[in-house]
Amino acid sequence: MSKFIASATIRASHEMVTRAEELLNKTIAEKGEDLEFEFPDTAFQLPMINAMTGYQIKTLGQMKEGIRFAKELLTEEPLDESWKPYLGEALDAGMATLFAQEIWLALRYIAGLEPVKDDDLGITYNGFITDTIQRNLGIQLVDGTMPGFAAIIGPAPSDEIAEKIVKELQEKNILIFLSGANAEGNSVTKQLVRRGVQLGWDTRIVPLGPDTEHTLYALNWAIRAALIFGGLKAGNFKEILKYTKDRVFAFALGLGGLDELKWATGAGAINMGFPAICDTDVPVIHPTGVCTYEEVDKELDPDKIVQKAIEVRGLKITVEKPPIPVSYGPAFEGERIRKDDTFIEFGGQRTPAFEWVRMRELDEIEDNKVTIIGTDWEKRFEAGGKMPLGIVIDVAGRKMQKDFEAVIERKIHHNLNEAQGIWHMGQRDINWMRISNNAKKDGFTLKHMGDIQNAMFHNRFKSIVDKVQVTLYVDEEDVLKVQEDARAAYKERDMRLGNLTDDSVDTFYSCLLCQSFAPSHTCVITPERLGLCGAYNWLDGKAAYEIDPTGGNQPIPKGEVLDESKGRWSGVDEYILKSTGGAVETMNAYTIMDNPMTSCGCFEVICAILPEANGVMLVNRGFADMTPIGMKFSTLAGTVGGGLQTPGFMGIGRNFVTSKKFLYGDGGLRRIVWMTKALKEGLKDSFNAMAAKNGVPDLLDKIADETIATDSEKLVEFLTSVGHPALEMEPML
Ligand code: SF4
Ligand code: ZN
Repeated sequence: MSKFIASATIRASHEMVTRAEELLNKTIAEKGEDLEFEFPDTAFQLPMINAMTGYQIKTLGQMKEGIRFAKELLTEEPLDESWKPYLGEALDAGMATLFAQEIWLALRYIAGLEPVKDDDLGITYNGFITDTIQRNLGIQLVDGTMPGFAAIIGPAPSDEIAEKIVKELQEKNILIFLSGANAEGNSVTKQLVRRGVQLGWDTRIVPLGPDTEHTLYALNWAIRAALIFGGLKAGNFKEILKYTKDRVFAFALGLGGLDELKWATGAGAINMGFPAICDTDVPVIHPTGVCTYEEVDKELDPDKIVQKAIEVRGLKITVEKPPIPVSYGPAFEGERIRKDDTFIEFGGQRTPAFEWVRMRELDEIEDNKVTIIGTDWEKRFEAGGKMPLGIVIDVAGRKMQKDFEAVIERKIHHNLNEAQGIWHMGQRDINWMRISNNAKKDGFTLKHMGDIQNAMFHNRFKSIVDKVQVTLYVDEEDVLKVQEDARAAYKERDMRLGNLTDDSVDTFYSCLLCQSFAPSHTCVITPERLGLCGAYNWLDGKAAYEIDPTGGNQPIPKGEVLDESKGRWSGVDEYILKSTGGAVETMNAYTIMDNPMTSCGCFEVICAILPEANGVMLVNRGFADMTPIGMKFSTLAGTVGGGLQTPGFMGIGRNFVTSKKFLYGDGGLRRIVWMTKALKEGLKDSFNAMAAKNGVPDLLDKIADETIATDSEKLVEFLTSVGHPALEMEPML
């Protein structure tokens, strides 16, 4: 690193530490050292300082210690000699900057100044990024849907270029964080607002805050991946930094020139393996030991800067786009289309509609054909409004199986939503679609709805789908008629799936996708237990294996039954021993008490034992309040993830709760004594059906939720008053 930059970095770092210390002293003078603080929804206090040092900052007084760490990093003698060779002098200053920024931002939270609200701009910045978001995004990160993150700092040369750069990142499915401004206060956030671009998690463009310091929110979020998924212990900084370098594919785009604080922040990011690509004539910094690629690089042509960044960071991008006149990619999936922006809509109780995938013989299909059946559709379509729509998708392939119809059909939703200006909700005969005015203006037609399906089914299901054809029915009479056939097919399908049980198959499937983040975790997916993220069931696993025999889903021959009630099989034990590199030797699928399945971190629901109630509680991701175990979801999640087996605790997919095999070895559904209201409502029908089968039809009413009890004393009181069956069962411990 050049001397000039090193001294600029050190200067800015000193300044940042002083600024944080002054604000800390002022805040302590006002509120006292004992004032407690935590960022919203995290189990890791001040995550950057926590991850690097292992020190937990919970009060203002403890923040003084954080300042001391930062200062020591800036002196000749670092905290521990082992920092020295790894970080180097300027990098120490970079990390010190991040520590000071974290404390400074925490203090601003206490003062009510974060997240920053900008009334002129009409937005509230995101501020601190919660653990929940990390978990929500978990699967997309590991299955390659989201190949990386970009932090854009500063403004692009013009509003148009800002939009162009962001769109290019979106099309490559890269998550975008925005922070920092130039000396005049201009920033990409402002440029995008001026261009009318939708910001937020739904579109994957997340403005963190207006200043350079806010970049820290992206960094202290990225560092948590190592703790949440990697199972690394806070304080093990070498491993943690190696983890972020090897597994968190982030980079920065430094636009509009770098000032000293930006250099210092960038130096911190380089510790984590995150390079910066700048659009100004900065000195290029070649690998100095942390990275094996350029740490700072430049690309003055805005048309090439995204590509350059991708090359420097080594991202693998695979984007296939159907032949349609609008942008396409998962980044457009969350976009909403309001009524006023709608050109035309289908279904949603407004018109009859359905979607149906059926297996056909190869010679029955004309590949890639789209047929529109109905009269006058063009006229009606030109007029806009609403119309009936039946989508029938015929697929054929040598390796196609009837059971894959449902797996393929579920993708219609993603196929359509990923087109910009097209929105889809629901499934089967309760679907609902909208096409926006803008998409229409760009030349999107009804036929494109079929073209998307043809292209994407070939793309997503390469080895099981050889031919696809789409028929779109637009006349009400036809739609109603074919809908009846579709309904009969759904029914038959459900019956067949219902008969699929763990006992009726001899092969389970593994999911190893999360190993890229949680190396010792393997999901064992059985017909009656879906993956803990909720995104993969047994049929998905089976189809995925057919599609890619060397991919992340592998068959597990069950082998001998070793324990019927706890769900243990010799084949499963052998498999996980190998797949976890020896970390997990044996596993029981149907109990929480004895070698339960491990958790990566992206579980939908945590199941945890409540010994005083002789049962378990269920809390879903996104529930932010206290639970009777005395921990919030985020704290609890911190103890469950990372590929560890923790008896009494496990992460599960939501729908596992109403499976016959849920806690089968521990007494089943009757063990549930507390669950969130959201879960109660969401699972009601299937829960009541399963409860009735178990001879406890009114069980749901006897289960407490947050409106009834949030501590164990009240909980037990309630359970006793309603005569909850768990109280009469064998002790769990
Ligand atoms: Fe990760 Fe399991 Fe979901 Fe696969 S099924 S993506 S391993 S959580
Ligand atoms: Zn996972």
